[in-house]
Amino acid sequence: MKKDPKLQPATREKTCQVCGSTFIYPEKGSKATRFHCESCADLPVHFRKTLTRLGKRIRTLERKIRTL
Ligand SMILES: [Zn+2]
Repeated sequence: MKKDPKLQPATREKTCQVCGSTFIYPEKGSKATRFHCESCADLPVHFRKTLTRLGKRIRTLERKIRTL
């Protein structure tokens, strides 16, 4: 008889708040956090803050350009 498949905890695809890449969280052995991909999670906090701000600006500008 087949064993009941155990429900896996939902792995979710996240978008990194810094670089905008998508990543899976949580993932075993990965340093990624809920908001940052593995490579950005490694950055010093003040780097991340600045990059997040710039990233937001770029996304805002991209949205504006699309409506032109
Ligand atoms: Zn990232």
